[in-house]
Amino acid sequence: MAKKLWRRPGSIAPLALRSLFRRPATTRYPFVKWEMPDRFRARPVVHTENCIGCKLCVRNCPAAAIEIEKVGEKAFEARIDLGRCVYCGQCAFSCPKQTIELTKDFELASFDRASLKVVYHAKPKPAAEPPAGPAPESPPPQAPGA
Ligand code: SF4
Ligand code: SF4
Repeated sequence: MAKKLWRRPGSIAPLALRSLFRRPATTRYPFVKWEMPDRFRARPVVHTENCIGCKLCVRNCPAAAIEIEKVGEKAFEARIDLGRCVYCGQCAFSCPKQTIELTKDFELASFDRASLKVVYHAKPKPAAEPPAGPAPESPPPQAPGA
């Protein structure tokens, strides 16, 4: 089709004229940001407060991009090399504690590979909620003058 158009000079003119009055197919990125779809996979983020150090994410990562290190009593630090990561989401899928999340942040380009090595420091575990039980009984009302 394209070959035939170029054989007849001027045959592309109607197409070019029509394009002048159509909305552009491209967006004005980076001035206009595009909302990525819900299941889009980009920068992995590790919520270390939930990590139990099982290292299933490390074992299952096909790019050897993630490391987990114990830094204290039940405290774990995660390191991800975004320069190696292939954004497959396997680490998030494998994690038994839903500690890893693949966000929509895809603007990761950098001239410096070292800046792509991100560390998620250990965070304190969230306080356990008190067990739900019957509400404590209030003291009986006192008679007036007692
Ligand atoms: S998204 Fe895939 S490649 Fe990236 S750290 Fe997770 S398992 Fe590894
Ligand atoms: S799989 Fe989840 S809980 Fe296990 S080490 Fe990785 S981030 Fe931590």
